[in-house]
Amino acid sequence: MKSNFAFVTLCAIILTACHSANSETKKTPIAKNTEKAESSAAQNKPAADAATILARKQVPILCYHHIKDLKPGDGPMTKTYSVSPAHFAEQMKALKDNGYETILPLQLYNYLLYGGSLPAKPVILSFDDTDEEQFSVAYPEMKKYGFKGIFFIMTVSINRPHYMTKEQLKTLSDDGNAVEAHTWDHHMVTKYQGEDWEKQLVQPKKKIEEITGKSADYFAYPFGLWNKAAFPELKKAGYKMAFSLASKRDSTQPLYTVRRMIVAGQWSTPSVLKAMKETFHLD
Ligand SMILES: [Zn+2]
Repeated sequence: MKSNFAFVTLCAIILTACHSANSETKKTPIAKNTEKAESSAAQNKPAADAATILARKQVPILCYHHIKDLKPGDGPMTKTYSVSPAHFAEQMKALKDNGYETILPLQLYNYLLYGGSLPAKPVILSFDDTDEEQFSVAYPEMKKYGFKGIFFIMTVSINRPHYMTKEQLKTLSDDGNAVEAHTWDHHMVTKYQGEDWEKQLVQPKKKIEEITGKSADYFAYPFGLWNKAAFPELKKAGYKMAFSLASKRDSTQPLYTVRRMIVAGQWSTPSVLKAMKETFHLD
């Protein structure tokens, strides 16, 4: 445990993203997903092949880390990974004013795999690394517009100072947000061997499901980094889709290499909208 905490501390300093807790296991039944009805309707259609999925129009997926003001002396990495609360509020309003509606991962999955329907201008808001201000700052701002998000959780961080608590995660989930997996302690997937898969993919999924009472079917790669060895492991663990960052999608496994765009803290709101259109080839 000690070396893991050391890694995690290092990770926090370097990446301004990460952290520490531990897991006790309680068995709670997994409730049916609220999107179930829509899911089964879409699944009456045949599943698309990889080429068809890759050819579909992309849904823009934004990725946020810290939602906080900078402090004097913050380095370039922190500046990139921190969107100020004022900027975040402005971005949510701009998305609403421009007609965007948030969708959840199951709706994306049904669209990509079965050609399920989407709103005219869909967007996904995703949040990595369990930061507390995602609950206290981002979530209330999103609620003003009826927006929902995906919160990708490093389970080691739950209940630690400056990270979300179990109760906060349960509140997000109960309110219709997706609470999903982002490993145990943020080690990169490309380095996993042996028991790492169980520790980083299987146990975090179980832990989140115990907290929310819903199945956690989606995974975000730490640092956006993936390799082909991860695909069978993700499938075996029961994940339906996995999210990267800017890397190109895999030609055979597009559902396990769904792209996202980090919203850089330095960007103005018009720049965010412009970057989103260019990155995801929107009209
Ligand atoms: Zn992360």
